[in-house]
Amino acid sequence: MIEDQQPTTNNQQLITIVGAGLVGSLLSLYLRKQNFEVKILERRKDPRTGNVDHGRSINLALSHRGIRALKEAGVQISILEKAIPMRGRMIHDVKGKRNFIPYGEQGQMIYSVSRSELNRMLIEEAEKAGASINFNASCHEIDFKNSSITINQEGQEQKISSDIILGADGAFSDVRSAMQKYDKFNYSQEYLEHGYKELQIPAKDGKHQLEKNALHIWPREKFMLIALPNLDGSFTCTLFLPHEGAVSFSKLKDNVSLKKFFKKYFSDVYGLMPDLEKYFFGNPTSSLVTIKCSPWYFERTMLIGDAAHAIVPFYGQGMNCGFEDCVVLDELIAKHNENWETILNEYQLLRKPDSDAIADLAIANFVEVRDKTADPVFLLQKKIEARFSEKHPDKWIPLYTMVTFSPKIRYSKALQGGNKQQSIMDKIMAMPDIDKKWDSDEIEKLILSEIN
Ligand code: FAD
Repeated sequence: MIEDQQPTTNNQQLITIVGAGLVGSLLSLYLRKQNFEVKILERRKDPRTGNVDHGRSINLALSHRGIRALKEAGVQISILEKAIPMRGRMIHDVKGKRNFIPYGEQGQMIYSVSRSELNRMLIEEAEKAGASINFNASCHEIDFKNSSITINQEGQEQKISSDIILGADGAFSDVRSAMQKYDKFNYSQEYLEHGYKELQIPAKDGKHQLEKNALHIWPREKFMLIALPNLDGSFTCTLFLPHEGAVSFSKLKDNVSLKKFFKKYFSDVYGLMPDLEKYFFGNPTSSLVTIKCSPWYFERTMLIGDAAHAIVPFYGQGMNCGFEDCVVLDELIAKHNENWETILNEYQLLRKPDSDAIADLAIANFVEVRDKTADPVFLLQKKIEARFSEKHPDKWIPLYTMVTFSPKIRYSKALQGGNKQQSIMDKIMAMPDIDKKWDSDEIEKLILSEIN
């Protein structure tokens, strides 16, 4: 074992971040701005050397919470230059008919970004800001009392002591696993019956084969396919399907069953995927899990990002939420100076209800997107809500807007507001002839009376 590396003595506290993923690398920028010495330990090789992160989504939807966090860390512009704006959802029905549903008010959009490109950029920025990053350095033991980590780097063990340790090591966090060995640590993980697999629609003559500025969805009630655009003209598609059952991954074992399935349910896209078989049988089928735990900190070690709260991807908020974690922690550090006990405690009190809320919203959105976006009653409800919100923007902000476009509204408040709106809309949608009078004064007055 190499000698214990101690925190510095120049009055600059050393913060060690475990994980140079999306959250860990952004977090380091905030901590450097507050003038901490920052060391990052990353299990993988340096992604800038061409090492690609396999097994997870190739691109991600970046929205306002994440953009705000990047902006406040000073990195927004260069990342958005390499992002594709998506102005709404393009719904593809089973006959191939398309219906574009804008995300809300004019100009509202989310962005498709490359996960690996974003991670590489953030790592680059972290180094430029003065964070030191040890790649190939896997954290495998933590002494919480002494805030020290034992790492394994290329076969050598080394102990690193810090003033603070932040575990940003993702959904299957080793920092969290170390906490789980202690008394009174609450932990739950819940897998969906659905898994996912990534596929591809290649570019044709360098161009996108579908509308470029949209998030494409093929909702099929119990399963769905989505596609996000890439800069090179291709789309990354994700098929969400139960692992087992009558229509499931387990039934798609050969090219014949795969072709039949795609021709039946996704006929309009089948012809755009010449390498379907290669991607389908070459790519892994991955699982979808929600992880909740508490407390998030022991002594001076705290979890952040997916390590504290892994959620399913149906609201496109996992990374955005993790980025917002960095903003909240940064504000608390500024507020409480280096009073870490107060910072960690207040952080958890503030953030836990919000991460629980977005975890629940993400599961609910899966049902909404795959089951309801093709349902005329649901589409009518959304039309009524949009009309009302347009006329009374101070009284009704649609749930999707609160979550995706309103970084100042906490996820927990969005969830509460969304539940209230749903109970009002349940009454409205139960009215006879609602399809004929949906845009009448009567409906508007009724909603107004229910809100107040
Ligand atoms: P990670 O990105 O997992 O990074 C953790 C890092 O820690 C990794 O680099 C890992 O190598 C390192 N590490 C792990 N263990 C150790 C160890 N012992 N020692 C040292 N290093 C270690 N979010 C969105 O906002 N929008 C989306 O559209 C979206 N789509 C998604 C689609 C899919 C299919 C999935 C699975 C997720 C999606 N997410 C999305 C969620 C998003 O990917 C995560 O929320 C985000 O990656 C979390 O970042 P993180 O830094 O906390 O964890």
